[in-house]
Formats: sequence, structure tokens, C-alpha cells
Amino acid sequence: MKRTMPKPDTIRKMAQMIAATRPVEIGCDECFEKLDRFAELHLAGKNAAEAMPLVQDHLDRCGDCREEFEALLAALKAETEDA
Ligand SMILES: [Zn+2]
Repeated sequence: MKRTMPKPDTIRKMAQMIAATRPVEIGCDECFEKLDRFAELHLAGKNAAEAMPLVQDHLDRCGDCREEFEALLAALKAETEDA
């Protein structure tokens, strides 16, 4: 009896699909890239956590980025108050 094994290629594609549907975590680099916009949303009174849940998720877990975010927020606030 002949069994058909999936080709390694197919397995790799399937693994990629699974990885793509998994909730994604972002790293510090990506978080930092989005931090400006996240802080702007926050200051505009919008629900930044809902608009950018991945950034919020990262800030919850990463003290470095949270510090960065708070510094950015303070800077943006000072800018708004000056204007
Ligand atoms: Zn981080």
C-alpha cells in the first residue's frame, strides 16, 4: 500500500499559515515605530489600546518601552500646552 506523504514544501506552507493566524506579538523595534501614533491617539482622547492592541500589549509587558511611551507622552503634552 502506497502512502502519500505531504511534501516538505506543503508542511512548511501549513506551518506558515498557522503562524500567520496566531496572535502576533510585536518586538521593541516595531513598538517603537508605532509609539508616536499610539501616543497621539492617546492624547486625542481616543482609545489607543483598542486601536493598536499590539502596542498596548507590548507596553504592558515591556518596561523599557513603557518608559519610552511615558516620556513621549510627557513631551507631546508639553508641546500641546505651549501652543
Ligand atoms: Zn519593548
